[in-house]
Amino acid sequence: MGNLRFDVVQEAFKKKAVATETPAGKPSDYFGSLVFGRSNMRKYLDGQTYERLVHCIDDGIPLDSAIADKVAEGMKVWALENGATHVTHWFQPLTEGTAEKHDSFLTPDGKGNVIEQFDGKSLVQQEPDASSFPNGGIRATFEARGYTAWDPTSPVFIQDDTLCIPSVFVSYTGEALDYKTPLKKALKAVNDAAVPVCRLFDAKVKRVYSYLGWEQEYFLVDEDLFAARPDLMLTGRTLMGHSSSKNQQLSDHYFGAIPSRVTAFMKDVETAGYKLGIPLKTRHNEVAPNQFEMAPVYEEANLANDHNQMIMNAMTRIARKHGFVVLFHEKPFEGINGSGKHNNWSLGTDTGVGLLNPGKDAKSNLRFVTFFVNILAAVQKHNGLLKASVASANNAHRLGAQEAPPAIVSAFLGQTMTDVLRKLLEVPSGTPIVITGKKGRRVAVEIPEIFVDNTDRNRTSPFAFTGNRFEFRAVGSSANCAGALTVLSAAVAQQLIAFKADVDKALATGKTLEVAVMDTLKPLIASVLDTLCFEGNGYSDAWKKEAKKRGLDVENSVPKMFCQFTAPASVDMFTQLGIYNEKELQARNDVKWDTYSTKVLIEARMAVRMAINHVMPAGMEYQRRLLEDLNLMRQNFPQDYETLAVTQITLIRECAALLSEIKEQADKLSDAQKAAESKEDSYAKAIAAEKAAEILHTLRQSIDKLEEITDNALWPLPKYREILFIN
Ligand code: ADP
Ligand code: MG
Repeated sequence: MGNLRFDVVQEAFKKKAVATETPAGKPSDYFGSLVFGRSNMRKYLDGQTYERLVHCIDDGIPLDSAIADKVAEGMKVWALENGATHVTHWFQPLTEGTAEKHDSFLTPDGKGNVIEQFDGKSLVQQEPDASSFPNGGIRATFEARGYTAWDPTSPVFIQDDTLCIPSVFVSYTGEALDYKTPLKKALKAVNDAAVPVCRLFDAKVKRVYSYLGWEQEYFLVDEDLFAARPDLMLTGRTLMGHSSSKNQQLSDHYFGAIPSRVTAFMKDVETAGYKLGIPLKTRHNEVAPNQFEMAPVYEEANLANDHNQMIMNAMTRIARKHGFVVLFHEKPFEGINGSGKHNNWSLGTDTGVGLLNPGKDAKSNLRFVTFFVNILAAVQKHNGLLKASVASANNAHRLGAQEAPPAIVSAFLGQTMTDVLRKLLEVPSGTPIVITGKKGRRVAVEIPEIFVDNTDRNRTSPFAFTGNRFEFRAVGSSANCAGALTVLSAAVAQQLIAFKADVDKALATGKTLEVAVMDTLKPLIASVLDTLCFEGNGYSDAWKKEAKKRGLDVENSVPKMFCQFTAPASVDMFTQLGIYNEKELQARNDVKWDTYSTKVLIEARMAVRMAINHVMPAGMEYQRRLLEDLNLMRQNFPQDYETLAVTQITLIRECAALLSEIKEQADKLSDAQKAAESKEDSYAKAIAAEKAAEILHTLRQSIDKLEEITDNALWPLPKYREILFIN
């Protein structure tokens, strides 16, 4: 029996780097060339249209139809010049990923000819027949109408031959059906809540922006090897596979030399990113073999999130040119690190102040501490909901496993800020907070001007302060960042509103601003130090016990985590801030449960098929050969064959035992899958699917043991060592 696997591995190993398509000139020459940003707007729109559009963008004012027509005309001319033939509203439905429906510019002119046409109406709104996007029952299929509407704060761009218009996606009754709509509402809520707090310290502040810098981790797998693994093809992860003798023990992959095939891929991705105006900055090998990371310079959060979605799409397409498939799955391979997407997040004002940076004087330092503490208080109050915001069937393999942030949301501040907070509790309210090293003051509370302690970062913490920002690390690599950012922003907005009200009350009693602020902050500081803040090892069992005692959410079940979204505290917060109504929250939970079950049950079906159709035949063939060998031994050495063939006998017994284990577990998994499938209710189905996931895990352990003992030549699936070290 020849083994296809060997040929595939040989071929993959021989592949060489593909030539890159780098345009002439420096990246700054073509940066943003495929974006209808301000410079193209100026070039393709008349002065008045330009001014009106910029006004709409900056101040969130709707575009009137006369202006929309002129904008559309300018865009069309620009798009045609850049080779576009089609246009689409580009949106982010509740499936992970983006959606688009292309319409050609071509329009019959009524005289037998065609012209390219694009008007303001088509720019502003589109009506995709979108009944099959997940909506949690908000749109019954007979009322399939949802519509997409341009989000002018995110610039239009060209992808391949298509003009893409970043859009929100809502039902005709106004409920959000996507990620962007609630994100935009939540970002507005933060602005509305943060501006009055900023004005306590500086009356000039008019806007507060949220910033996001994502770090995208991913795996690359050779496309031929990928195609030889049905589990990767259908589920995005390997459902079985014995660990490779060498994996990441030597830590030789992290920051190591990037293989040339991969560098070529990265270069093409960067070129595509630059043309799309995405400020990609870093690229490096990650910890696991075949794992990499890329990160841009941070941007305004809504734009940054669009950019993340755009680059994920580009990576998926460009990988194929280089003979790779890119895996965004959070845990494609067991036993080595999975992939996350750290969300570096901060707030800043229109006056250019980073609200998570200390300032020059006591007042601005107090402002820094104010935002710092209120954010922590928000995270503490909604720690369970924040965890739910990053939970998914894929991310379940990371959260709570031994490498990614644990399934408990705590915060890491570092020694300096922990000391500062402790000190603030000791000194009288109103004591100035000074920059370290400034002389001639009565030094009581000191903070450094710049935090340089990035070295003592605690990698096990899901929410860490890293000098000028918080880093939410529990977000999954395949996730839309908006899920996490919407919750984080809502929590922070709610907390800032409550804080401002308390400060106002204290001011009304005649306290100075400094005293009023610190009197309000002190109970918050005491509470977060006791409950949320944790500097130790987040993976330890001791922490799980301790966290539970502290009252942090320690729920491990993904379907149960989602219940946080409809808990009274969450419903109050979201409805009061106008981010979600209760119907939307329920609908979204139905979508989350359904997505969870669907993914897990696809895995279950796939694993059963592979166990029966791939694994067991290979094991039985090996067993048959061993038996043949044993028979020959018996024929030739009838007296002492039992001693001579002791290895064969042992192996036959092992094989037989594993094969029956596998069959038994596969049947059990199949039953569990069918039982889950038969449930009507989304939640009940997800809970039942979770049981199937546990059985799948047991099944794979038996399969992996069988792989370990079976003749290498008989194993039909590319092994971990073959998939993970090709370059
Ligand atoms: P590391 O891996 O050390 O965390 P990276 O350079 O890979 O750092 O990524 C850091 C990310 O944080 C980048 O996207 C960077 O632009 C972003 N970032 C830096 N400062 C801020 C800030 N104030 N607000 C939001 N994001 C920030
Ligand atoms: Mg980071």
